[in-house]
Order: sequence, then C-alpha cells, then structure tokens
Amino acid sequence: MSKLEIRDLHVSVNTDEGAKPILHGVDLTISSGETHAIMGPNGSGKSTLAYSLAGHPKYEITSGSVLLDGEDVLEMTVDERARAGLFLAMQYPVEVPGVSVSNFLRTAKTAVDGEAPKIRTWMKDLKGAMAELKMDEAFINRNVNEGFSGGEKKRHEILQMELLKPKMAILDETDSGLDVDALRIVSEGINHAKATSNPGVLLITHYTRILRYVKPDFVHVFVDGKIAEEGGPELADKLEAEGYESYVGTKAA
Ligand code: ADP
Ligand code: MG
Ligand code: MG
Repeated sequence: MSKLEIRDLHVSVNTDEGAKPILHGVDLTISSGETHAIMGPNGSGKSTLAYSLAGHPKYEITSGSVLLDGEDVLEMTVDERARAGLFLAMQYPVEVPGVSVSNFLRTAKTAVDGEAPKIRTWMKDLKGAMAELKMDEAFINRNVNEGFSGGEKKRHEILQMELLKPKMAILDETDSGLDVDALRIVSEGINHAKATSNPGVLLITHYTRILRYVKPDFVHVFVDGKIAEEGGPELADKLEAEGYESYVGTKAA
C-alpha cells in the first residue's frame, strides 16, 4: 500500500522574464488502487503539476511538500523518483534519437528495478504488453518517439507503465490526439496495469471522454493553479454538461 501526499504545493516556472508563479497551493492525496482525475481548462497548470512531481528543472517548488510513503520526493533526483516508484507519462513525449524502443525500455526497467531483467522473461513481458496495446513487434526497433504518430507516442507511454509497474502513475493528457479506437486501446492498457499492479493513478485530462473507459474514484477540478472543487465521478458528468466556465468566471484563487 503506497501513498502520495501533495501538501500546499506552490510552484513557479522559470522563464526568460523571471520566475512566474503557476501553482498556488495544491493539496492532493493518492493511495494505491485509487484513480484520481484532474480536469481543468488549458493553461490552468495541470502539466506544471505533473512536471513538478517528475522533477523537471524548469519548475521551482517555492513552498509545500510531496511525500511518497513518507519519503520526501522533492529531495530526490529524477532517477531516484523513478526508482521510488513514480512514473510520469508526458503530454508531449520527447524523441530520443539513436535509441531503440527495446533498449530504452530495458534500460528504464534496469534503472527502476536496480538490476537488469532476465532476457527471456523480459522479451515475453515486452511482447505480451505490446500485444495488449495492439502494437506491431517491429515497433521495438524504432527510435523512441522518432516519427511516431500521436497515438503511437501515447501507446509507448502506457507500454512503459505496463513494464515498469510504478506505485504512482501520473498520466498527463494521455488521451489527447487519440481517435476513438486508440483511446479505447490505451484505456484498456491503463486498466490492465491497474488490475495487475494496483498503482495509484493521477489522470490529467482536458476532456471527459477517457473517463468513460478509465473510471475515476475522485475528480478534481483544476483552475488557476489550484483545485477548485472535488467530488466523485458525477463531477465529471457535470463538467461534461457545463464546461469550466462557472469556475473560471469566479476565479477560484
Ligand atoms: P495546462 O497543462 O493546464 O494546460 P500548463 O501547466 O501547461 O497548463 O501551463 C500553465 C501556465 O504556465 C500557462 O500560462 C503556461 O503558459 C505557463 N507555463 C508553463 N510552462 C512554462 C514554461 N516552460 N515557460 C513559460 N510559461 C510556462
Ligand atoms: Mg495545456
Ligand atoms: Mg498540459
């Protein structure tokens, strides 16, 4: 049983014009097996939250804390966070020229586990997870994200989640840019990872449609760098019907 505790998190982004405050006190607790959806308008700071948890150097934590099973995440390097069981699927996955999917995944698995996976079970796991995500086997020889379609990038992110078996998975707009078929396959992949390794999941999204496939236990409305309202799955239905206007209008700051 794991727990991620985000307490009164304030974050600024370092820009050429100086530090710009983006997050204004985020409180969120996620336990193993729970799925939390963060929904909010563009520019509200959702990706900033994800990057801050991942340890991206552009984002400066000005106050607050993040604990994973009582350990101070903010004191950890990016590698240490991954080894501690944090996983981030980015909204805009980056290309890794010259590194094949196969090598990339095996290196990541080795780094997270502290030892190289046995080649025989590894290939079986890799091929099984790829079949699950309806990915062609030829994919493993391609360079990471180079020339990948939007859907291939997102599937590759979920493939990583499936293989690395994180304690906490932060999925930033894993649904964006997917057609209906790809959305269903990616969602099934997330659900499969949930069923097999019971991670806590933070599902960041702009749209409600992925929540029809990946059922959230909690929904948080994110506006102007903080959580403006919290509820159960029914809150997503309300957002679907009404949008974010009522929150943005009242400036929940
Ligand atoms: P969301 O993911 O909800 O769309 P973001 O976290 O991407 O929101 O952005 C929140 C705000 O922070 C936006 O106003 C955005 O322009 C700004 N921001 C985020 N990252 C940077 C950056 N690297 N440089 C400058 N501004 C940034
Ligand atoms: Mg955005
Ligand atoms: Mg974003």
